[in-house]
Amino acid sequence: MKKPFIFVLLLSFSLVIVSVVGSLIFYDDNPSSAVVKKKVTKEITYEKIDKDSPIINVYNVSKNKIEKIDIEEYLYGVLSSEMPSTFDEEALKAQAIAARTYVIYKMENNITSGHKNSSVCTNSAHCQAYTSYDDLKKIKGEDWIKSDYVKVKKAVDDTKGQIVSYEEKAILPLYFSTSSGKTENSKDVFSTQYPYLVSVDSPYEENSPKYSTTYSIKKSKFIKYIKNIYPQINISLDKLDKEVSIVDRTDGGCVKIIEVGNVKISGTDMRKILNLNSANFTINYNNDEMNFTVKGYGHGVGMSQWGAEGMAKKGYKYYDILFHYFKGTDIKDMY
Ligand SMILES: [Zn+2]
Repeated sequence: MKKPFIFVLLLSFSLVIVSVVGSLIFYDDNPSSAVVKKKVTKEITYEKIDKDSPIINVYNVSKNKIEKIDIEEYLYGVLSSEMPSTFDEEALKAQAIAARTYVIYKMENNITSGHKNSSVCTNSAHCQAYTSYDDLKKIKGEDWIKSDYVKVKKAVDDTKGQIVSYEEKAILPLYFSTSSGKTENSKDVFSTQYPYLVSVDSPYEENSPKYSTTYSIKKSKFIKYIKNIYPQINISLDKLDKEVSIVDRTDGGCVKIIEVGNVKISGTDMRKILNLNSANFTINYNNDEMNFTVKGYGHGVGMSQWGAEGMAKKGYKYYDILFHYFKGTDIKDMY
């Protein structure tokens, strides 16, 4: 008579255990669907392999020559240039892995365009910013080397060999400064869709100095700029506010299409024409001026650096940050 009761008791007890243990081990599979939900309660160690790091070819643009550098040493120079060293160590680790993944992605896919058989170059507009140790010493000084360089180096060393992977291959780890609160789908900005570069919420980055900026331009100047590129355009100074309209936005909130008179212009093109911080903007008119309120800074695809910093400050680990911004990915230890 007692047995069924004990069985039910044991069953419900084990279910409780399973769900408790489960909640400790697994974190939200799909953190991108809403605001990041909860912190990981169990630390994960990805460091498995311990081999020497490879030497890579880096095309130094200012010296116009190819330099052979240990990849990890190259990353010290990238991390020092691509993210403020004042950022949280977990954000720095996430950035170190993104920068490492970029090199491995180029190597795995044999992409050397623009730099003579080198995987990467030192031009930040083409690849990633890089500053050598000697230059950092000159530019930032001895004190910075003693404190911040040590911190940057540690973020690289602590994640040695780790990259972000999707189906076992290195991803294209795009990153940028500040989002508008949401990131962008890669296809909306670069016309190629990658399964891991999709729009996700990006909270906690209000501390970025570029979270919201304004840009003002005289209506007459705006018309001049636009006519330079679209000579066939039909717009007039006195009816400009009625002739300019944002007709479509992306999932991330960027302007997809803006109609200016009889011409449709993409948000990214408008960003380029006016040199705006991002393509996420609204327009107001004030007498003879147009005022753009711009949200975020950068292309908006992949990892937001200020979003990473915000997550780190909330207690998230580097892998939480990477898995949040690069959907469905994993971390792989290469060496
Ligand atoms: Zn390059």
